[in-house]
Amino acid sequence: MKRIYLDNAATTPIDPRVAEVMREFELESYGNPSSIHREGQAARAKIDFARANLATFLNCSPQEVVFTSGATEANNLAIQGVISHAILDMAAKPHVITTMLEHQSVYNLVKELENRRVIEATFIKPGINGMIDPDDIIRAIKANTVLVSVIFVSNEIGSVLPIREIGKELSRIADRGSRIIYHTDAVQAAKYYNLNVEKLGVDLLTISGHKVSGPKGIGALYIKSGTKMSNLTFGGSQEYERRPGTQNTTGIIGMARAYKLLGSLEDRQKTAKKISELRDELINFVSKFNKIEINGPVGESRAPDNLSFTIFEADQELIISKLDLAGIAASTGSACVSGSAQPSHVIQALGKAGKKKAATVRLSLGKQNTAEEIKQVKKILEKILK
Ligand code: PMP
Repeated sequence: MKRIYLDNAATTPIDPRVAEVMREFELESYGNPSSIHREGQAARAKIDFARANLATFLNCSPQEVVFTSGATEANNLAIQGVISHAILDMAAKPHVITTMLEHQSVYNLVKELENRRVIEATFIKPGINGMIDPDDIIRAIKANTVLVSVIFVSNEIGSVLPIREIGKELSRIADRGSRIIYHTDAVQAAKYYNLNVEKLGVDLLTISGHKVSGPKGIGALYIKSGTKMSNLTFGGSQEYERRPGTQNTTGIIGMARAYKLLGSLEDRQKTAKKISELRDELINFVSKFNKIEINGPVGESRAPDNLSFTIFEADQELIISKLDLAGIAASTGSACVSGSAQPSHVIQALGKAGKKKAATVRLSLGKQNTAEEIKQVKKILEKILK
Protein backbone atom coordinates (compact mmCIF):
# COMPACT_ATOMS: atom_id res chain seq x y z
CA MET A 1 0.00 0.00 0.00
CA LYS A 2 1.37 3.42 -0.95
CA ARG A 3 1.38 5.68 2.08
CA ILE A 4 -0.18 9.15 1.97
CA TYR A 5 1.71 11.58 4.17
CA LEU A 6 -0.52 14.32 5.61
CA ASP A 7 1.54 15.37 8.62
CA ASN A 8 3.75 18.03 7.08
CA ALA A 9 3.25 20.36 10.02
CA ALA A 10 4.99 17.80 12.25
CA THR A 11 7.84 17.41 9.82
CA THR A 12 8.49 17.25 6.08
CA PRO A 13 10.28 14.64 4.00
CA ILE A 14 13.80 15.87 3.23
CA ASP A 15 14.32 17.15 -0.31
CA PRO A 16 16.82 14.83 -2.09
CA ARG A 17 18.81 17.91 -3.20
CA VAL A 18 19.21 18.90 0.44
CA ALA A 19 20.25 15.38 1.41
CA GLU A 20 22.79 15.42 -1.41
CA VAL A 21 24.61 18.60 -0.30
CA MET A 22 24.67 17.31 3.26
CA ARG A 23 26.05 13.95 2.19
CA GLU A 24 28.73 15.58 0.06
CA PHE A 25 29.82 17.78 2.92
CA GLU A 26 29.85 14.93 5.47
CA LEU A 27 32.09 12.83 3.26
CA GLU A 28 34.48 15.55 2.15
CA SER A 29 34.82 17.91 5.04
CA TYR A 30 35.20 17.53 8.78
CA GLY A 31 36.97 20.63 10.04
CA ASN A 32 35.79 22.50 13.12
CA PRO A 33 34.54 25.86 11.80
CA SER A 34 36.35 27.63 14.65
CA SER A 35 39.77 26.17 13.74
CA ILE A 36 42.13 28.46 11.90
CA HIS A 37 43.68 25.83 9.60
CA ARG A 38 42.48 25.12 6.10
CA GLU A 39 40.02 22.34 7.07
CA GLY A 40 38.43 24.57 9.69
CA GLN A 41 38.22 27.55 7.37
CA ALA A 42 36.60 25.44 4.64
CA ALA A 43 33.81 24.53 7.06
CA ARG A 44 33.61 28.15 8.22
CA ALA A 45 33.19 29.33 4.63
CA LYS A 46 30.25 26.94 4.15
CA ILE A 47 28.58 28.32 7.28
CA ASP A 48 29.17 31.89 6.13
CA PHE A 49 27.59 31.09 2.78
CA ALA A 50 24.58 29.41 4.44
CA ARG A 51 24.15 32.31 6.85
CA ALA A 52 24.25 34.83 4.00
CA ASN A 53 21.57 32.85 2.13
CA LEU A 54 19.26 32.80 5.12
CA ALA A 55 19.91 36.48 5.75
CA THR A 56 18.74 37.18 2.21
CA PHE A 57 15.58 35.14 2.84
CA LEU A 58 14.87 37.15 6.00
CA ASN A 59 16.11 40.48 4.62
CA CYS A 60 18.59 41.02 7.44
CA SER A 61 22.35 41.08 7.78
CA PRO A 62 24.22 37.75 8.24
CA GLN A 63 25.39 38.79 11.73
CA GLU A 64 21.74 38.84 12.78
CA VAL A 65 21.25 35.10 12.09
CA VAL A 66 22.15 32.79 14.99
CA PHE A 67 22.02 29.04 14.42
CA THR A 68 20.51 26.83 17.11
CA SER A 69 19.62 23.16 17.53
CA GLY A 70 16.09 23.81 16.31
CA ALA A 71 13.13 26.10 16.80
CA THR A 72 12.55 24.93 20.37
CA GLU A 73 15.97 26.23 21.36
CA ALA A 74 15.53 29.39 19.29
CA ASN A 75 12.24 30.16 21.07
CA ASN A 76 13.89 29.48 24.44
CA LEU A 77 16.85 31.68 23.57
CA ALA A 78 14.52 34.49 22.49
CA ILE A 79 12.26 34.43 25.53
CA GLN A 80 14.68 33.47 28.29
CA GLY A 81 17.33 35.73 26.79
CA VAL A 82 15.09 38.80 26.87
CA ILE A 83 13.77 38.06 30.37
CA SER A 84 17.21 37.39 31.87
CA HIS A 85 18.50 40.68 30.54
CA ALA A 86 15.41 42.68 31.53
CA ILE A 87 15.57 41.43 35.13
CA LEU A 88 19.00 43.05 35.50
CA ASP A 89 17.70 46.59 35.31
CA MET A 90 14.10 46.37 36.50
CA ALA A 91 12.66 46.71 39.97
CA ALA A 92 9.32 45.17 38.93
CA LYS A 93 8.83 41.65 37.57
CA PRO A 94 9.03 41.67 33.78
CA HIS A 95 5.69 41.16 32.01
CA VAL A 96 5.34 39.01 28.89
CA ILE A 97 2.41 38.99 26.49
CA THR A 98 1.83 35.91 24.39
CA THR A 99 -1.13 33.93 23.03
CA MET A 100 -3.01 30.72 23.67
CA LEU A 101 -2.11 29.61 20.14
CA GLU A 102 1.63 29.24 20.73
CA HIS A 103 3.61 26.07 20.17
CA GLN A 104 4.58 24.27 23.39
CA SER A 105 8.12 25.64 23.16
CA VAL A 106 6.72 29.12 23.84
CA TYR A 107 3.54 28.32 25.76
CA ASN A 108 5.08 25.87 28.26
CA LEU A 109 8.15 28.06 28.74
CA VAL A 110 6.13 31.20 29.54
CA LYS A 111 3.88 29.14 31.87
CA GLU A 112 6.99 27.75 33.61
CA LEU A 113 8.55 31.19 34.10
CA GLU A 114 5.22 32.43 35.45
CA ASN A 115 4.97 29.46 37.85
CA ARG A 116 8.51 30.10 39.06
CA ARG A 117 7.42 33.70 39.69
CA VAL A 118 10.13 35.03 37.42
CA ILE A 119 7.65 36.90 35.23
CA GLU A 120 4.07 38.08 34.97
CA ALA A 121 2.37 36.73 31.88
CA THR A 122 -0.74 37.46 29.83
CA PHE A 123 -2.00 34.79 27.44
CA ILE A 124 -4.28 36.34 24.83
CA LYS A 125 -7.22 34.11 23.92
CA PRO A 126 -8.24 33.62 20.31
CA GLY A 127 -11.78 34.27 19.13
CA ILE A 128 -13.85 31.20 18.20
CA ASN A 129 -12.51 31.65 14.68
CA GLY A 130 -9.00 30.95 16.01
CA MET A 131 -7.69 34.46 15.36
CA ILE A 132 -5.99 36.96 17.66
CA ASP A 133 -7.08 40.59 17.64
CA PRO A 134 -4.04 42.94 17.56
CA ASP A 135 -5.96 45.35 19.82
CA ASP A 136 -6.09 42.68 22.54
CA ILE A 137 -2.29 42.51 22.47
CA ILE A 138 -1.89 46.27 22.65
CA ARG A 139 -4.50 46.60 25.43
CA ALA A 140 -2.56 44.06 27.52
CA ILE A 141 0.60 46.21 27.59
CA LYS A 142 1.65 47.40 31.05
CA ALA A 143 4.47 49.57 32.35
CA ASN A 144 6.59 46.45 33.00
CA THR A 145 5.92 44.72 29.64
CA VAL A 146 9.25 43.74 28.10
CA LEU A 147 8.30 41.15 25.50
CA VAL A 148 5.49 40.29 23.09
CA SER A 149 5.73 36.83 21.52
CA VAL A 150 3.15 35.85 18.88
CA ILE A 151 3.17 32.80 16.63
CA PHE A 152 2.98 33.65 12.90
CA VAL A 153 1.08 30.54 11.74
CA SER A 154 -0.50 28.13 14.21
CA ASN A 155 0.94 24.63 13.83
CA GLU A 156 -2.35 23.19 15.06
CA ILE A 157 -5.21 25.11 13.48
CA GLY A 158 -3.48 27.08 10.72
CA SER A 159 -4.40 30.61 11.90
CA VAL A 160 -2.25 33.24 10.17
CA LEU A 161 -1.82 35.91 12.80
CA PRO A 162 -1.47 39.66 12.07
CA ILE A 163 2.27 39.89 12.83
CA ARG A 164 2.79 42.99 10.72
CA GLU A 165 -0.15 44.90 12.22
CA ILE A 166 1.05 44.12 15.74
CA GLY A 167 4.57 45.20 14.69
CA LYS A 168 3.24 48.55 13.47
CA GLU A 169 1.36 49.18 16.70
CA LEU A 170 4.42 48.28 18.78
CA SER A 171 6.64 50.60 16.79
CA ARG A 172 4.15 53.44 17.39
CA ILE A 173 4.43 52.71 21.10
CA ALA A 174 8.24 52.58 20.81
CA ASP A 175 8.18 56.05 19.23
CA ARG A 176 6.63 57.22 22.48
CA GLY A 177 9.62 55.85 24.38
CA SER A 178 8.54 52.42 25.62
CA ARG A 179 10.74 49.74 24.11
CA ILE A 180 9.06 46.32 24.02
CA ILE A 181 10.88 43.48 22.27
CA TYR A 182 8.78 41.70 19.65
CA HIS A 183 9.29 38.01 18.83
CA THR A 184 7.50 35.74 16.39
CA ASP A 185 7.71 31.98 15.96
CA ALA A 186 7.62 31.79 12.16
CA VAL A 187 8.34 28.06 11.86
CA GLN A 188 5.10 27.18 10.07
CA ALA A 189 5.00 30.43 8.08
CA ALA A 190 8.30 30.06 6.23
CA LYS A 191 6.97 27.93 3.38
CA TYR A 192 4.28 30.32 2.17
CA TYR A 193 4.64 33.78 3.70
CA ASN A 194 6.99 36.72 3.54
CA LEU A 195 9.52 36.54 6.36
CA ASN A 196 11.01 39.95 5.61
CA VAL A 197 11.85 40.94 9.19
CA GLU A 198 11.88 44.64 8.43
CA LYS A 199 8.38 44.57 6.96
CA LEU A 200 7.12 42.43 9.84
CA GLY A 201 8.65 44.86 12.34
CA VAL A 202 10.00 42.09 14.57
CA ASP A 203 13.14 42.06 16.73
CA LEU A 204 13.35 38.28 17.01
CA LEU A 205 12.12 35.58 14.63
CA THR A 206 12.38 31.79 14.88
CA ILE A 207 12.73 29.31 12.03
CA SER A 208 13.41 25.58 11.81
CA GLY A 209 15.05 23.31 9.22
CA HIS A 210 12.78 20.29 9.15
CA LYS A 211 9.50 22.04 8.41
CA VAL A 212 10.71 23.14 4.97
CA SER A 213 12.10 19.86 3.58
CA GLY A 214 15.37 20.38 5.44
CA PRO A 215 17.08 18.41 8.21
CA LYS A 216 15.96 17.99 11.82
CA GLY A 217 17.96 19.33 14.75
CA ILE A 218 18.77 22.70 13.22
CA GLY A 219 17.05 26.07 13.47
CA ALA A 220 17.87 29.73 13.71
CA LEU A 221 16.92 32.87 15.55
CA TYR A 222 16.98 36.25 13.84
CA ILE A 223 18.20 38.76 16.41
CA LYS A 224 17.89 42.37 15.32
CA SER A 225 21.18 44.07 15.95
CA GLY A 226 21.14 45.98 19.24
CA THR A 227 18.47 43.75 20.85
CA LYS A 228 19.21 43.53 24.53
CA MET A 229 19.24 39.91 25.61
CA SER A 230 21.36 37.45 27.58
CA ASN A 231 22.55 34.04 26.48
CA LEU A 232 20.78 30.81 27.28
CA THR A 233 23.94 28.68 27.42
CA PHE A 234 27.57 29.57 28.12
CA GLY A 235 30.80 28.39 26.55
CA GLY A 236 32.78 29.43 23.50
CA SER A 237 32.33 32.49 21.32
CA GLN A 238 30.60 30.89 18.34
CA GLU A 239 27.59 32.52 16.67
CA TYR A 240 28.69 36.08 17.48
CA GLU A 241 28.91 35.09 21.16
CA ARG A 242 25.15 34.50 21.24
CA ARG A 243 25.11 30.67 21.13
CA PRO A 244 28.18 28.72 22.16
CA GLY A 245 29.14 25.24 20.93
CA THR A 246 30.62 23.79 17.75
CA GLN A 247 28.10 24.41 15.00
CA ASN A 248 26.13 21.63 13.34
CA THR A 249 27.76 22.49 10.03
CA THR A 250 26.00 19.79 8.00
CA GLY A 251 22.63 20.79 9.42
CA ILE A 252 23.30 24.47 8.69
CA ILE A 253 24.25 23.70 5.08
CA GLY A 254 21.14 21.54 4.64
CA MET A 255 18.83 24.10 6.21
CA ALA A 256 20.15 26.95 4.05
CA ARG A 257 19.75 24.82 0.92
CA ALA A 258 16.17 23.94 1.90
CA TYR A 259 15.30 27.63 2.31
CA LYS A 260 16.92 28.47 -1.01
CA LEU A 261 14.82 25.76 -2.67
CA LEU A 262 11.60 27.36 -1.39
CA GLY A 263 12.21 29.95 -4.10
CA SER A 264 10.94 33.50 -4.37
CA LEU A 265 7.82 34.69 -2.58
CA GLU A 266 6.01 34.41 -5.90
CA ASP A 267 7.08 30.76 -6.28
CA ARG A 268 5.96 30.04 -2.74
CA GLN A 269 2.59 31.67 -3.33
CA LYS A 270 2.09 29.51 -6.42
CA THR A 271 2.79 26.36 -4.38
CA ALA A 272 0.44 27.68 -1.68
CA LYS A 273 -2.36 28.08 -4.22
CA LYS A 274 -1.99 24.54 -5.49
CA ILE A 275 -1.92 23.10 -1.97
CA SER A 276 -4.87 25.18 -0.78
CA GLU A 277 -7.01 23.88 -3.64
CA LEU A 278 -6.38 20.29 -2.53
CA ARG A 279 -6.90 21.24 1.12
CA ASP A 280 -10.20 23.03 0.30
CA GLU A 281 -11.46 19.85 -1.31
CA LEU A 282 -10.91 18.09 2.00
CA ILE A 283 -12.51 20.93 3.99
CA ASN A 284 -15.63 20.79 1.82
CA PHE A 285 -15.71 17.04 2.15
CA VAL A 286 -15.47 16.78 5.94
CA SER A 287 -17.84 19.73 6.43
CA LYS A 288 -20.67 17.58 5.11
CA PHE A 289 -20.59 15.29 8.13
CA ASN A 290 -22.72 15.87 11.19
CA LYS A 291 -20.82 16.14 14.45
CA ILE A 292 -17.76 17.59 12.72
CA GLU A 293 -16.55 21.14 13.23
CA ILE A 294 -13.63 22.75 11.44
CA ASN A 295 -11.13 24.35 13.83
CA GLY A 296 -9.51 27.66 12.95
CA PRO A 297 -10.20 30.46 10.49
CA VAL A 298 -11.43 30.31 6.91
CA GLY A 299 -10.13 32.01 3.76
CA GLU A 300 -6.97 34.10 3.66
CA SER A 301 -6.49 33.90 7.41
CA ARG A 302 -5.88 30.15 7.21
CA ALA A 303 -2.55 28.67 6.10
CA PRO A 304 -2.94 26.84 2.77
CA ASP A 305 -1.76 23.48 4.04
CA ASN A 306 -3.78 23.06 7.24
CA LEU A 307 -7.03 21.28 7.97
CA SER A 308 -8.01 20.70 11.58
CA PHE A 309 -11.37 19.36 12.67
CA THR A 310 -13.08 18.10 15.78
CA ILE A 311 -15.33 15.07 15.65
CA PHE A 312 -17.69 14.97 18.58
CA GLU A 313 -18.42 11.65 20.28
CA ALA A 314 -15.42 10.01 18.68
CA ASP A 315 -12.23 8.46 20.01
CA GLN A 316 -9.17 10.42 18.89
CA GLU A 317 -6.57 7.66 19.09
CA LEU A 318 -8.89 5.23 17.34
CA ILE A 319 -9.42 7.57 14.40
CA ILE A 320 -5.72 8.30 13.96
CA SER A 321 -4.91 4.56 14.13
CA LYS A 322 -7.64 3.72 11.61
CA LEU A 323 -6.27 6.35 9.25
CA ASP A 324 -2.78 4.97 9.79
CA LEU A 325 -3.89 1.40 9.06
CA ALA A 326 -5.57 2.65 5.90
CA GLY A 327 -2.27 4.23 4.79
CA ILE A 328 -2.70 7.85 5.89
CA ALA A 329 -0.27 9.62 8.24
CA ALA A 330 -2.36 12.17 10.16
CA SER A 331 -2.08 13.64 13.63
CA THR A 332 -4.23 14.82 16.49
CA GLY A 333 -2.98 18.38 16.47
CA SER A 334 0.61 18.82 17.45
CA ALA A 335 3.21 16.05 17.27
CA CYS A 336 4.49 17.36 20.59
CA VAL A 337 1.25 16.45 22.42
CA SER A 338 0.40 13.26 20.53
CA GLY A 339 -0.22 10.36 22.82
CA SER A 340 -1.93 12.60 25.34
CA ALA A 341 -5.65 11.98 25.80
CA GLN A 342 -6.11 15.64 26.76
CA PRO A 343 -7.00 18.19 24.09
CA SER A 344 -4.12 20.60 23.52
CA HIS A 345 -4.13 24.08 25.08
CA VAL A 346 -4.96 25.46 21.63
CA ILE A 347 -8.10 23.34 21.21
CA GLN A 348 -9.05 24.13 24.80
CA ALA A 349 -8.68 27.84 24.07
CA LEU A 350 -11.22 27.48 21.24
CA GLY A 351 -13.70 26.23 23.83
CA LYS A 352 -14.06 22.78 22.29
CA ALA A 353 -12.70 20.83 25.19
CA GLY A 354 -14.91 19.44 27.90
CA LYS A 355 -17.38 17.91 25.46
CA LYS A 356 -17.47 14.17 25.91
CA LYS A 357 -15.08 12.21 23.74
CA ALA A 358 -14.19 14.75 21.09
CA ALA A 359 -11.46 13.84 18.63
CA THR A 360 -9.23 16.39 16.96
CA VAL A 361 -7.67 15.47 13.62
CA ARG A 362 -5.05 17.56 11.83
CA LEU A 363 -4.25 16.93 8.19
CA SER A 364 -1.34 19.04 6.95
CA LEU A 365 -0.51 18.90 3.27
CA GLY A 366 2.81 19.30 1.52
CA LYS A 367 4.15 19.98 -1.96
CA GLN A 368 4.37 16.22 -2.65
CA ASN A 369 0.63 15.55 -2.22
CA THR A 370 -1.40 14.95 -5.40
CA ALA A 371 -5.05 15.22 -6.46
CA GLU A 372 -5.09 11.44 -6.77
CA GLU A 373 -4.03 11.10 -3.13
CA ILE A 374 -6.73 13.50 -1.96
CA LYS A 375 -9.34 11.45 -3.83
CA GLN A 376 -8.10 8.38 -1.98
CA VAL A 377 -8.12 10.22 1.36
CA LYS A 378 -11.76 11.19 0.83
CA LYS A 379 -12.71 7.57 0.19
CA ILE A 380 -10.95 6.40 3.35
CA LEU A 381 -12.38 9.24 5.46
CA GLU A 382 -15.87 8.45 4.19
CA LYS A 383 -15.59 4.91 5.55
CA ILE A 384 -14.02 5.90 8.87
CA LEU A 385 -16.25 8.87 9.60
CA LYS A 386 -19.42 6.94 8.84
N1 PMP B 1 7.30 26.18 16.70
C1 PMP B 1 6.37 25.66 15.88
C2 PMP B 1 5.25 26.53 15.41
C3 PMP B 1 6.45 24.33 15.48
O1 PMP B 1 5.53 23.83 14.67
C4 PMP B 1 7.53 23.55 15.95
C5 PMP B 1 7.65 22.09 15.55
N2 PMP B 1 6.53 21.32 15.89
C6 PMP B 1 8.47 24.13 16.80
C7 PMP B 1 8.33 25.46 17.15
C8 PMP B 1 9.64 23.36 17.33
O2 PMP B 1 10.52 23.10 16.28
P1 PMP B 1 11.79 22.14 16.43
O3 PMP B 1 11.25 20.76 16.15
O4 PMP B 1 12.75 22.61 15.37
O5 PMP B 1 12.33 22.29 17.79
